[in-house]
Amino acid sequence: MLAVSKTFGPDAVRQALAAGQRCFGENYVQEGVEKILALRDASVASMPMEWHCIGPLQSNKTRLVAAHFDWVQSVDRLKIAERLSEQRPDHLPPLQVCLQVNVDGGLTKAGVTPDALPALAQAVAGLPRLKLRGLMCIPEPAEGFDAQRAVFEQARAVFDRLNAAGFALDTLSMGMSDDLEAAVAAGSTMVRVGRAVFGGRPAKLTSPA
Ligand SMILES: *Cc1c(COP(=O)(O)O)cnc(C)c1O
Repeated sequence: MLAVSKTFGPDAVRQALAAGQRCFGENYVQEGVEKILALRDASVASMPMEWHCIGPLQSNKTRLVAAHFDWVQSVDRLKIAERLSEQRPDHLPPLQVCLQVNVDGGLTKAGVTPDALPALAQAVAGLPRLKLRGLMCIPEPAEGFDAQRAVFEQARAVFDRLNAAGFALDTLSMGMSDDLEAAVAAGSTMVRVGRAVFGGRPAKLTSPA
């Protein structure tokens, strides 16, 4: 489980850490980096923290992300992947990457289409400072377990096709507070949970990505 700590402060993250949670997700690069720096002392060998960037990523933010995060789940363009690879500092391990895929054609949502995915995956897998781990998706909210599951099954099928084509992906990141059961039933390996862990977020977010 990835605990999505966006809009919550370092103290909330420390509480989750104390409860055994190690992996945290942030949407807004600036906010995330501030939190990562504020919590540097909290990542100890016995409890190493892992920070995932899960929000939309603009070119002018890739350097910060490459320098501070362990994972990026929202890569949907080769140009962004190339920048992350070039900018990943040498002293850090490769940046772990998921490609964001748009399975339900939601027009407003980011993500590569399933048709364009194999070529992007091929290109990203060849970048030296990235490690391609899998796929991430954020379907449009659907009502009810069966409708939610049907969309997640599409993502699972796309994931399975890539692995059948020779990729060795181990991460299928899907499911949030309102639909995580359906995502797990469809084969999610990582749910990204915010409100169900930390409680409700303020309606308005102050810092855009
Ligand atoms: C905010 C967010 C989540 C967590 O959503 P909740 O509904 O609070 O669980 C997961 N993934 C992404 C990409 C998000 O932006």
